[in-house]
Amino acid sequence: MEETRLYESYEEGFSLCTRVRDRLPDLIEGYLDAMTAEAIRSHLAVCYMCNKVFDEMERTIKLVETLPFAEPHMDFAPPIMAAIKMQAEETAKPWWKWRPKPE
Ligand SMILES: [Zn+2]
Repeated sequence: MEETRLYESYEEGFSLCTRVRDRLPDLIEGYLDAMTAEAIRSHLAVCYMCNKVFDEMERTIKLVETLPFAEPHMDFAPPIMAAIKMQAEETAKPWWKWRPKPE
């Protein structure tokens, strides 16, 4: 049970804050079960610093979601694929055939 783990070391406030902050992205994305989400929201209501982190994270995620999807240019892939192929061929050679790159 997530909510039990969340409060395992309740006396260690710092540790609880760390656990809460680790789950904030999941809370924002709605990936948490209702009880865990409720436990985290209860902590956010009483912890100024975690609430601040939550606000900033939520704002950042929403901002990123407003960015348009960037379609890579048609010329983008071939030079990268060529460089990967060249690198793969270079590392596939036996070590005695390795040569330093010409200046
Ligand atoms: Zn906290």
